[in-house]
Amino acid sequence: MHTTITAPEPVVDAPQPTVIHQPVGPRSARQQVPTVVEPTPVAGLGVAPRFCGGWVAPRWAFTGEWVLLHLDSGIAAVNVDGAGIGHAREAAELLGVGSVDWTYPAEILTGDPLALDVLRVVGDWVRDAVRENRPVRLHASSWQQIPPPWSVDVLDSRGKVFDSYFCFTYGEAEQFTVELGIDFDLDLSAGSCEDITISRLVDPFWELRCARRGCTAVLLDDEYGIPDRSPNRRALAAIAADESWRQLDERRWLCPACNAQFRGTKTCTW
Ligand SMILES: [Zn+2]
Repeated sequence: MHTTITAPEPVVDAPQPTVIHQPVGPRSARQQVPTVVEPTPVAGLGVAPRFCGGWVAPRWAFTGEWVLLHLDSGIAAVNVDGAGIGHAREAAELLGVGSVDWTYPAEILTGDPLALDVLRVVGDWVRDAVRENRPVRLHASSWQQIPPPWSVDVLDSRGKVFDSYFCFTYGEAEQFTVELGIDFDLDLSAGSCEDITISRLVDPFWELRCARRGCTAVLLDDEYGIPDRSPNRRALAAIAADESWRQLDERRWLCPACNAQFRGTKTCTW
């Protein structure tokens, strides 16, 4: 009896999925497993599910991890225990920065000291990132400071504020004041006892952005779908935790989409 587990198809952003044969298993029982490969921006490299092979063919399984393959040979260029699909994608971006042409055959690349050096360095970066449970490429901080907003305050007959609204530009505040004046039916020009004022707050506000380079996710206000901004970072952090953002360290958070991509779960016990 043998076990064959079909690997899930990765998201393929191409008209036709690329299928190559990936060598899997020990040398004495090497199998060529057809693999759907996600193209990368770097010619010659593709992201693929990682398989493990048994001693008796045909026996192989998806490990829950991801590798970066050299497409011409099917050999793994970056193959790290515990790597998520995001790590494999990052590895391609990092290998594409240099001048190595990854479309060359494996025999040529393995004789090229520069290619070997780049593979070793990028492999080490990915290994460090996996060990620390994070992406390789991170911004220094997730916190983005927003200049103090304008406060539009509606005052009662005693001059006390009974309603306040924040606007992030003076133009918005002015426009909003006009709309409020109509809504509240205030006779401002006649010196009515009710009033609307515009003032600038003192403290800056903050936004929380995904720490992974290349991701544009911002923590959103779930009611309005716009960036959630507050002078209180602790309050934003609590909302982020509720919405499945993951804190990496004191300053950095990963959005839910990235969070899922940077966790390889090894499920193969062979
Ligand atoms: Zn993200």
